Amino acid sequence: MAISDDVLVVGGGVAGVAAALAASDRADVRLISHKQSTLRSASGLVDALGYAPDGDGPIVDPFDAIDDLPEGHPYERVGKTAVREGFSLFDDTVGDMYRGSHTDTNALVPTHGGTVKPTARYPASAAAGLASDGRDALLVGFEALTDFDAPMAASHLDAAGVPFDARGVTVRFPGEFRADAKVTRYAHALDRDENLDGTPARTALAETVKRYLGDEERVGFPAVLGDDDPAGVRADLEAELGADVFEVPMGPPSLPGLRLEDRLYKALEEAGVRVESGNPAVGAETDGDRVEAVYVDRGRRKVPYHADQFVLATGGLVGKGIDSDRDGVREAVFDCYVPQPADRYDWFEDDAFDDHAFARFGVDVDRDLHPLTADGSIDYDNLRGAGSALGGYDFAAEKSGGGVSLATGYAAGDAAGAAVAGATDGATIHGDTQ
Ligand SMILES: Cc1cc2nc3c(=O)[nH]c(=O)nc-3n(C[C@H](O)[C@H](O)[C@H](O)COP(=O)(O)OP(=O)(O)OC[C@H]3O[C@@H](n4cnc5c(N)ncnc54)[C@H](O)[C@@H]3O)c2cc1C
Repeated sequence: MAISDDVLVVGGGVAGVAAALAASDRADVRLISHKQSTLRSASGLVDALGYAPDGDGPIVDPFDAIDDLPEGHPYERVGKTAVREGFSLFDDTVGDMYRGSHTDTNALVPTHGGTVKPTARYPASAAAGLASDGRDALLVGFEALTDFDAPMAASHLDAAGVPFDARGVTVRFPGEFRADAKVTRYAHALDRDENLDGTPARTALAETVKRYLGDEERVGFPAVLGDDDPAGVRADLEAELGADVFEVPMGPPSLPGLRLEDRLYKALEEAGVRVESGNPAVGAETDGDRVEAVYVDRGRRKVPYHADQFVLATGGLVGKGIDSDRDGVREAVFDCYVPQPADRYDWFEDDAFDDHAFARFGVDVDRDLHPLTADGSIDYDNLRGAGSALGGYDFAAEKSGGGVSLATGYAAGDAAGAAVAGATDGATIHGDTQ
């Protein structure tokens, strides 16, 4: 039977999920995704804008700073209202799993490297760790998890001038675990409160840490404190330690990122979005100024997925939505135009920390998120782009990855839903002008 939906979202990261949820009020939505998104590598923090494109910062109020962004930046394209709506969609979806919605001001969250990151939303599990909090902190690392060197992170925080004393210790996680045990193994031991050498895991860990705890009122651990029941694990550790407990977000694989991914996919299910993953979209059938179908490679055959409206949310160079080879940089499914310097040597600068052109590679869009051709005209009336498939910004340098994906995903999905419902002619999404 032919596959046909009102809206087809291609890509299952933050941008694709936001688009699918935003469209689902008014349309039948299908989301297809090749692999898992960058969420499992990301910290689980959702940044709005931590630094200006010229490196100025940290920014206190990202919403204020949006007014100063250059033309072509995705936030400039969708406007501040869409950024707020994108974050509202996120807040409604994740509920009390996340904090930060009470203010426009960036929170300052310590990272596993001992830097302080300006971010807009952070997991509840990181709340007691904020760098703006004046209470002294003990950071606890585990011998087997070498990515978090707690004494080094503590000394970096001190050097960064945080308003509290940070002290770091490295301990052996109680019980016997394989040397290469994954973070999820530790998390499940705490979830299930497994018996470790005759003592329940949460008590055993608290007893190990208690020996090192001085006057500190809060204790930070690498983000392994439970997968299914992180709140319960924290509560038990807090009761045993007599101190607040927080998680320090970690690099890949990131448990906070995985928890967020689980929550977002549960929301898709609740919203009735059909989700398929495992097969890549490999091309599109178009007719003049409209996309008719996306072809999905199912091994032996390419299957057409028809829809009225399409959202491109396949990610950037990391997610493989934007691909590069010796011939240049291209968008992989709809073959949308990707602006790029003609000479490959202009893609990079000599210094690793310089401002590289490739970091901003992506599809150029108009204010309604329609991808644009090389001459600036709209590629297809019923296609919109979202997330890191878009160009014009460097998410890693600006600390804007999650926010851009939410804002543009929300805007693209909302407009697609509106177009299906016939609510607006041409489905203008630009909520405000700047
Ligand atoms: C290491 C790392 C750390 C990060 N840390 C942070 C952070 O601290 N804070 C923050 O706000 N953001 C962070 N980000 C950015 C953020 O996680 C996302 O990368 C960003 O929001 C982009 O999301 P996206 O949905 O556009 O793309 P992606 O997350 O890349 O998702 C793209 C999806 O499209 C799918 N796809 C690709 N090609 C196809 C195809 N042909 N057919 C079907 N599906 C396809 C992919 O499999 C994937 O599911 C980090 C990113 C990385 C890589």
